[in-house]
Formats: sequence, structure tokens, C-alpha cells
Amino acid sequence: MTATLIDGKAFAATVRGKVATHVARLKEAQGITPGLAVVLVGDDPASEVYVRSKGKQTVEVGMNSYEHKLPAETSEEDLLALIERLNADKDVHGILVQLPLPAHLDEALVINAINPAKDVDGFHISNVGLLGTGQKAMVPCTPLGCLMMLRDHHGSLSGLNAVVIGRSNIVGKPMAQLLLGDSCTVTVAHSRTKDLPEVVKRADIVVAAVGRAHFVQGDWIKPGASVIDVGINRIPAPEKGSHEDGSVKTRLVGDVDFEAAKDVAGAITPVPGGVGPMTIACLLANTLTACCRVHGLAEPEGLTA
Ligand code: NAD
Repeated sequence: MTATLIDGKAFAATVRGKVATHVARLKEAQGITPGLAVVLVGDDPASEVYVRSKGKQTVEVGMNSYEHKLPAETSEEDLLALIERLNADKDVHGILVQLPLPAHLDEALVINAINPAKDVDGFHISNVGLLGTGQKAMVPCTPLGCLMMLRDHHGSLSGLNAVVIGRSNIVGKPMAQLLLGDSCTVTVAHSRTKDLPEVVKRADIVVAAVGRAHFVQGDWIKPGASVIDVGINRIPAPEKGSHEDGSVKTRLVGDVDFEAAKDVAGAITPVPGGVGPMTIACLLANTLTACCRVHGLAEPEGLTA
């Protein structure tokens, strides 16, 4: 392995430590405790795990966590009424509605009902517009985490060629905006991009957000490039044996062929232990930022875009 391993788990712990220090100071000096409300509709097991983990980490950094678990058949009217209450609640500085929502609920309508100043996921149309025009926004957590790791590794990103693979609203597009904001020359590649290997080969920074296991090949990477692997893919792992029901155990892998890429790249994030842990850490950072902004206090350094 020649690449430097970008340890997202350790980096996330550092971010949480900075958040915790700032929260303690806020409590002591201002008597303010940041609060994050997480709304979960339905009983999707993966979403329940995420929500539990978010609640636990919120409390660990000294913030208040408010969990609202609603039944799958909750009406849009009832969900919007809850969001209205949370918008008005002075103890709630961040609101996150866990996605995906059940099919009968209009996700865009629900997200856009959140007060943009409390939209710690950064998905509200106002925050998308603010980010796109280079103004102070709430920034989506996953790309914010990627940006933090890249800044930490490179110092300045100015003038670097960045290729973002994937154009989703939650990862690819905001990632491209953030890199542009740091003066990279940005290419956004997607499922219709022609000759992707050649496009990737020009990149000093590659961010892979595709959702296909081992998609980015080692020989696509320019020697010395930084590779940020956002993908989370579950693949069969027969080497781990079988479950009691006979089904083969699985393991998580990224969108990049890590084994091949690590010998070419200058730096690379692993999966698991790379981008994943940074996402919740950035959610906590965003909640703190939202709290500081609403109270007109100085924002924590290094925790925003
Ligand atoms: P998405 O399905 O919304 O978007 C995937 C993108 O990949 C699309 O824009 C599509 O154009 C592009 N794509 C598909 N096939 C392609 C191809 N052959 N060549 C080039 N581009 C192609 O997915 P998403 O929500 O952006 O998530 C992407 C991955 O990141 C998933 O594995 C997801 O699980 C993971 N993810 C991880 C985190 C985290 O915290 N680490 C957060 C969000 C998403």
C-alpha cells in the first residue's frame, strides 16, 4: 500500500470532540444546550439503527436529543403539524426527518416544511440555493464530511482537478458545489458519462458516490490522487460463513476497488471506517452551527464549509 489511509473513524472522533468542547462552553457561558430532533416515520430496521445511533452520539457530545417515532400510516397533515411544532420550539436547533419516508408522504413537501435555519441535513430548497450561490448554508452532512477530510489532507484544494462520480441531490451535487467553493476544477460524472476511466484519470481528487461495489478500478486512478469513497455496498462474504438460516454472511465495501486503488492513490478512505462515521459527526457539527447562528454567536471553527 502506498496511499495514506484517511481514517474517517478517527477524524469523526476528533470532530465530535470539538463539538463537545464547544457545547460545554455554550452551556457554561450562555446557558444554552443545542438540541437535535430526529423524526422517524415507520419501522424500517436500517432507519431505526441510524436514528438510534444519531440519538446516542447527540447525547454523548452534551446536546439534547429529541426522538419522534411515528407510525408508518402517519398522515402528511400530522407529520407537517409536528414539523411546525419543532420549527417553533426554541429548544430545538436542528430537525432531521429520516429518509426514506413511506410512499404516501411527499418527501420534498415535508423537507421544505422544515425551517431552513434548523435544516441540519441541508436538503431544504433554500439551503440548496444558498450553497449553489456560495452563501452561508446548512450543508448536507456526507459531502461536508468528505470536504473536511480533503481539506485536512491537502490544506488548500485550490486549482485541483476534482471528479465527482454521481449526481444525486444528497451527495454528488452538493459535493461538486463544495469543491467548487474551494476553487477546484470540478467535473461531475454520472451514468451517461462517456469514457469514465479517462475522465477519472485526470482527477487529483476522486469522490465516488455511485452505489456499486468495487466500481472504480485501480487503473482509472491518477498516481497520487486522493480517493474519497462514499459508497456503502453489502456483498456476500462466504469467507465469514453462514447465518443460522443458511444464508451467506455479508460485508460492507465501497464503490472503489480498494485493494487495487491503494497502490496507486496518494490517499484513500476505507469502507467501512471512512466517510460513514463522518456523516453523523457532521450532523452534530451542523446542529451546533445552527444553534450558534440562531443565537448570533461565533460559529465553531473548522466545522462548517
Ligand atoms: P444515488 O443512487 O442517488 O445516485 C447514484 C449516482 O451514481 C447517480 O447520480 C448515477 O448517475 C451515478 N451512476 C450510476 N451508475 C453509474 C455508472 N455506471 N457510471 C457513472 N455513474 C453512475 O445514490 P446516492 O444516494 O448518491 O449514494 C451513493 C452511494 O453512497 C450509495 O452506495 C450510498 O449507500 C452511499 N452513501 C453513503 C453515505 C455515507 O454516510 N457514507 C451517505 C449517503 C450515501
